[in-house]
Amino acid sequence: MSTDSAAKPAADATAEPRDFVRQIVRDDLASGRQAAIRTRFPPEPNGYLHIGHAKAICLSFGIAREFGGWCNLRLDDTNPGKENPEFVEGIKEDVRWLGYDWHELRHASDYFEVFYRAAVKLIEDGVAYVDDLDAEQVRAYRGTLTEPGRNSPFRDRSVAENLDLFRRMRAGEFDDGSKTLRAKIDMAAGNINLRDPALYRIRKVTHQNTGDAWPIYPMYDFAHALSDALEGITHSLCTLEFEDHRPLYDWCVDKVDLPNHPELWQPLIDAGLPTTPAKPRQIEFSRLNLSYCITSKRKLAQLVNEGHVDGWDDPRMNTLRGLRRRGFTPAGLRLLIERVGISKQNSVIDYAVLEGCIREDLDATSPRRMAVLDPLKLVVTNLPADHEETLAFANHPKDESFGTRDVPFSPQVWIEREDFAEVPPKGFKRLIPGGEVRLRGVGIVKCEEVIKDADGHVTELHVTLDPESRHGLPGADRKVKGTIHWVSAKHAVDTEVRLYDRLFSVPAPDDESDGQPWTAHINPEAKRITRGWLEPAAAGAAAEQRFQFERIGYFVADRVDHRPDAPVFNRIVTLRDTWAKQAGA
Ligand code: ATP
Ligand code: MG
Repeated sequence: MSTDSAAKPAADATAEPRDFVRQIVRDDLASGRQAAIRTRFPPEPNGYLHIGHAKAICLSFGIAREFGGWCNLRLDDTNPGKENPEFVEGIKEDVRWLGYDWHELRHASDYFEVFYRAAVKLIEDGVAYVDDLDAEQVRAYRGTLTEPGRNSPFRDRSVAENLDLFRRMRAGEFDDGSKTLRAKIDMAAGNINLRDPALYRIRKVTHQNTGDAWPIYPMYDFAHALSDALEGITHSLCTLEFEDHRPLYDWCVDKVDLPNHPELWQPLIDAGLPTTPAKPRQIEFSRLNLSYCITSKRKLAQLVNEGHVDGWDDPRMNTLRGLRRRGFTPAGLRLLIERVGISKQNSVIDYAVLEGCIREDLDATSPRRMAVLDPLKLVVTNLPADHEETLAFANHPKDESFGTRDVPFSPQVWIEREDFAEVPPKGFKRLIPGGEVRLRGVGIVKCEEVIKDADGHVTELHVTLDPESRHGLPGADRKVKGTIHWVSAKHAVDTEVRLYDRLFSVPAPDDESDGQPWTAHINPEAKRITRGWLEPAAAGAAAEQRFQFERIGYFVADRVDHRPDAPVFNRIVTLRDTWAKQAGA
């Protein structure tokens, strides 16, 4: 059984990426517009990271690393109630697992006092006002894509009145939703984001970091732009849906003008948070979309909450922790992101591309082991029943640096049931009655007798071993068509095997145009639990150790449940793409 070609470049060894974002960064450095590169990755801690986030992480952290700059991890925690410290820890762990580390860990909530002062400045400058319209009225005044909006009747309040009302909003005097602070921009702007967007809302909700200190919370566009500016971010990289928000982002950065107003960020200096504000540039790129995947945190949460999966780290989930538990490698995921590239073009990447990247990395990095998942007993009758020997097997067929291991052999072994056929299909190269096959590393055996139970079910094969065909002897080169793997029955270790496959059985589970809810496309075959026999060297694996089980696939010792005395292995991916055939490709 062959694996992926070794001729392909190994993971991480490909050419330097040259996408449009890196070109902008290069130009900014060359022209002296920027002296150093500073980026950030700003997840909202309202769920665990998913495969889509891997693209944003690899881009922002990757660019910082490649150009000798730094990248912050910033938790965008401006939505109390939905956010949770458990997710914060998970996000940190997942970013590190992908192979990156941050310069500083920041929270948008670190800046609440600065945002507040900035809002007061905007009121004083006459470019923000307190509005009494409720959410529904605001919507009615906003206009549409084809019609301009109308000014709120509260738009022309005096600076003094606005300052008074905003201070009282901050003091908690008003009810949730009864007032907002809005930017005074242009209700007729073609870009609806510029029609006096809200900057602050009243929400009397306890915040996981700031407790009950704030009854008002900043809106995303305001908080995000100012957070970037405060951290001195040079290139703020985000996905295309923020393109229409860029004018507002720039408006916030320009109107607040942090670099020239140190009194606004003095609280950070006092709190020991180093601060050198700058004017960041937002650049948008297309999201990563993968077939057979869901990349909405809301839907991923639904899968967990409705019990469709066993948790956020279920190996069927395309969360980073799910992929990790499944056995996917950080290098394989980075390879995917590199292959997909960075552009402004929206597209859907075939899940097979991801599996291909994982296989490619695993082929290069996984030691080989033997395991039998559907066992049939094979007895070598011309060896003494108590015969035992230790064979030395190479751990990797293409890389000697993996060394060798001891594999115990005895005359009773397990082979895969499918490696024997009483009535062979056309082209069958493995064992048949009276036929020969090579027992990997042992020699050539001939099937002399097929033992069956009363129902005619094959229970055992009796074979003879050609002593001349054993390793190191002149007859060892004798050709037979097939080679099969085995595990010595006496030494085999019983293992649980979890056979995972794609969670959805259709390429676009999100597409509900067929009238079915997306959850109807969950693949019932995506998890099958079975048992198997392992050679001893596999059973002793550490959690998260990955192997190629020869001729079967790539497997990982389960991160949570595996123990050497009670092994549990997850199938990471089969050796070949089994979906292309089903799709008729
Ligand atoms: P969701 O819509 O599922 O809640 P989100 O995009 O809002 O996800 P955030 O936590 O706000 O999640 O995302 C953090 C960063 O990751 C953002 O800058 C966002 O642009 C980026 N990101 C999210 N999904 C993808 C994706 N599929 N491809 C690339 N980048 C993504
Ligand atoms: Mg978001």
